[in-house]
Amino acid sequence: MTGHAVVIAGGGPTGMMLAAELTLAGTDVAIVERRDSPELAGSRAGGLHARSIEVLDQRGIADRFVSQGKTYPVVHFASIQLDISDFPSRHPYTLGLWQNHIERILAGWIGELGVPVYRGREVTGFTQDDTGVDVELSDGPPLRARYLVGCDGGRSLIRKAAGIEFPGWDPSTSSLIAEVEMAEEPELGVRRDEKGIHGIGRLEDGKRLRVVVREERPREAGESAEPTLRDLSQALIAVWGTDFGVHSPTWISRFTDMTRQAASYRKGRVLLAGDAAHVHFPVGGQGLNIGLQDAVNLGWKLGQVVRQVSQEDLLDTYQAERHPVGAQVLKTTMAGTALSRSDARIDAVVDTVSELLSMDEPRKRYAGRLSGLDIHYDLGEGHPLLGRRMPDLDLVTADGPLRVFTLLHDARPVLLNLGAPGSFGIDPWADRVRLVDATYAGPWELPVLGAVSAPPAVLIRPDGHVAWTGDPGHPAHRDGLREALTTWFGPPAVRPELPQALARRQPAERDRPDLASTGGRHRAERHRPRQQLHRNLVEGGRDDRGERDVPEPGRDRHGELGQVLRGRREPRDVRCLLESGAAG
Ligand SMILES: Cc1cc2nc3c(=O)[nH]c(=O)nc-3n(C[C@H](O)[C@H](O)[C@H](O)COP(=O)(O)OP(=O)(O)OC[C@H]3O[C@@H](n4cnc5c(N)ncnc54)[C@H](O)[C@@H]3O)c2cc1C
Repeated sequence: MTGHAVVIAGGGPTGMMLAAELTLAGTDVAIVERRDSPELAGSRAGGLHARSIEVLDQRGIADRFVSQGKTYPVVHFASIQLDISDFPSRHPYTLGLWQNHIERILAGWIGELGVPVYRGREVTGFTQDDTGVDVELSDGPPLRARYLVGCDGGRSLIRKAAGIEFPGWDPSTSSLIAEVEMAEEPELGVRRDEKGIHGIGRLEDGKRLRVVVREERPREAGESAEPTLRDLSQALIAVWGTDFGVHSPTWISRFTDMTRQAASYRKGRVLLAGDAAHVHFPVGGQGLNIGLQDAVNLGWKLGQVVRQVSQEDLLDTYQAERHPVGAQVLKTTMAGTALSRSDARIDAVVDTVSELLSMDEPRKRYAGRLSGLDIHYDLGEGHPLLGRRMPDLDLVTADGPLRVFTLLHDARPVLLNLGAPGSFGIDPWADRVRLVDATYAGPWELPVLGAVSAPPAVLIRPDGHVAWTGDPGHPAHRDGLREALTTWFGPPAVRPELPQALARRQPAERDRPDLASTGGRHRAERHRPRQQLHRNLVEGGRDDRGERDVPEPGRDRHGELGQVLRGRREPRDVRCLLESGAAG
């Protein structure tokens, strides 16, 4: 039986991003994708939000996307535009770029990374046991994997077969999206009415048109009958009074506002990411974006678990961090969907919300949320950076100028020392964490929060989130750093250090705010079982098959890892589906 450490069902944006992250983490991963070719029929997502572009920048590939799209310095809450041009990011904009282009670029990247893709095959089922998962395919022998990740979209077979509940709300509305030709010159642009938003725009070839039109009665996206040209014609007539002689469709699809989220993102050795874990109306252009960010959160963690650098409970932090982000997106899109209709009452609400969002603080808060720049994982109390994204600072190192994101290109954790160079070491983690001495003289500014104090040192996870801040020259902070390093990147590789250090520490000392090196105290307490793995490492452990399969003390057997528009509003949220414009 062919085996991989990880098999990913579904090679959409989420599956490809996850495969890349796992490959960078030194993990043997393969994708099983139902489609024969990487070409995507039709277009779905209209672009990328600021945090997604930052995440791609962290891997050194943002330019591949930005150079192909168009930038807009705004995000949208329903039809209300919020300016983000003043956000402290290298990418304070939304990138208009159709999903087929996004997928093409991602496919090129995973090709460079050498990710195997089993194309034209479906995952049809699986069985999991204590040591792995047998993954059944529609064609060919099954695959054996230590973990299976369902990135197989909203109708996810993996989610259903794993018996993971998908609670939420049934659709209240459905729309058709199509790429067609029209015999008559249609009315181009966006139309809002009491049913919702509709629009017609010209495609890049200048001949075909993209149509989005709300249907008279809501249907399930999965209703057995696929939408037909007749359905499209009827829906056009209901809105415009004519179907403009619609003909020659190359793609007709249906989407709804069904809003659901997987109760759990993991069951044993099976995990979910992207649309398989959460579905919602496309308003606000969030789905693809949070799928990419799920993948970047999960990839390094799963890689460490597979390499036995960390225990399985590290995977619990994937659910703990990403489920709340998904739940927030569902809530925001439900609100956006309600506001996207137009009648006197809804228009009055939209005007009111628009006025509120014209004030600077509400604008920043919502724009931070919609752009993904405000994401904050709860890693306990401490410096405002803790759990937030690390800003892409312009550093100066002994080797010259360097951007923080450049340090993350190979998806390895970084301890950034901004104090005296060489003042401390992290030898027991040196095989996993890169220590970089640098200076930075500029301001520290976070989206939404504004200016924050400069930390002496920052521990940055591979996904770009800050795991610890403090002063490693201070003995109490050093203990906090050791805890954070152990929590996130596994126990120290050198035998005596951690147990003695931990033994010396009294619980009360850990809780003293005056010893406030931050990062990982709460996490460390939630993840006590990792101490067992530490014992294994110190004593030279055996894995659950009784084989010697964990590293010898002090050795990594895998080696080097491997308007508000200030108050103005426009009916742009369907426009994103029509032109290569800002997402949502
Ligand atoms: C009209 C519309 C507009 C949208 N606009 C935006 C937007 O502006 N911004 C945004 O962020 N998002 C938008 N979205 C949402 C976005 O398209 C999805 O969130 C995104 O595609 C999810 O990516 P994914 O990889 O998780 O799932 P998918 O893209 O659905 O990919 C799943 C993959 O799995 C494969 N697959 C399925 N089952 C199996 C199986 N059993 N075995 C093997 N392979 C399988 C499929 O062929 C597919 O390639 C929009 C969606 C729609 C419908």
